[in-house]
Amino acid sequence: MDSLLTSMPKVELHRHLEGCIRTSTLLELAKGGAIDLPTRTHAELDSLVKLKGPMAGLEQVLAMFGLLRTAFVDLEAVERITREALEDALHRENVRLLELRFSPDFMFGLNNVSWEYGLERIARTCRTFEAETGGTFAVGLVVIASRGLGLLSVRRTAEFALAHRAELAGFDFADGEKDNPAAQYRELASAFHKAGLPLTVHSGEDGGWEHVRDTLELLRPARIGHGVHAVDDPSGHTLELLATRGVCVEVNLVSNYLTGTVARVEDHPLRRFLGAGVEVALCADDPQLLDTDLLREYEAARTAHGLTLSDLVECNARALEASFLSEEKVAPVRRALLDWAAEHIPPVQRSL
Ligand SMILES: [Zn+2]
Repeated sequence: MDSLLTSMPKVELHRHLEGCIRTSTLLELAKGGAIDLPTRTHAELDSLVKLKGPMAGLEQVLAMFGLLRTAFVDLEAVERITREALEDALHRENVRLLELRFSPDFMFGLNNVSWEYGLERIARTCRTFEAETGGTFAVGLVVIASRGLGLLSVRRTAEFALAHRAELAGFDFADGEKDNPAAQYRELASAFHKAGLPLTVHSGEDGGWEHVRDTLELLRPARIGHGVHAVDDPSGHTLELLATRGVCVEVNLVSNYLTGTVARVEDHPLRRFLGAGVEVALCADDPQLLDTDLLREYEAARTAHGLTLSDLVECNARALEASFLSEEKVAPVRRALLDWAAEHIPPVQRSL
């Protein structure tokens, strides 16, 4: 099963660049004098930047990000980390379509890197990597506004994204939903809709079902990140909204377990989403930080929720259709996925 899962062409819609930094890269950056680390031992550093067991909450994970954000010290480091994230996705997981997201303020705010040059370097690294793979791998960038950094930061990030619309696949509001109600981003969301920049929002992770409902009603995103607490709405209305509006939920099983959003992977409402007709994309969130990848996520979906190989292909197909990337980039991946399904899944089990 492992090699079969590995060989499946995959779509990843929810992955943070800040959560893709290899421990070995951090150590090499420190060795070269670019950054300071509390330790130079691989195992010790791993324990500081990787979550191996459940933490008390999202805030603690964000603190780990605090150490990781120092790594984007200059453009060279930005390029290296981006390139390694792409290599890991393609070579270790066989991801063929990747939406990579990052928060410019979080990533560059502490470092002496301009947002413009940072984005330019990330975009160029992605284009070069795509070209090297001869069209078998597609990547798009999603800029994140970190709600936790305050409204001014969110506004600045939104303006930045709108000014660089041509280089971006989409926009995301992330972290700290609980203290930052959707209503305050309503005008920004309208500006994105007007500019044709697709929107996804981290919602229903630390925030409750009311946050998901408000996000859907007020911000009208095409996708929701996590969405876990949408199922807690006793009226079922929020779940229904997700289904009837065709809003894809970017599900992150391991992440939700490790951040304490669910007590066990088995407690994740994945089956309820599927049962209600909600589009679901299985994603890895922060592969290095959470010590996961799509293979581990698929394995968790199989063992904890009974998803079959055919279901996993179906989730990939849904993710593909919910991608913010152009049809030109999506089409070859669709062909690869269909070919793979035709070869590995008996016709009777195939829904594609
Ligand atoms: Zn996320």
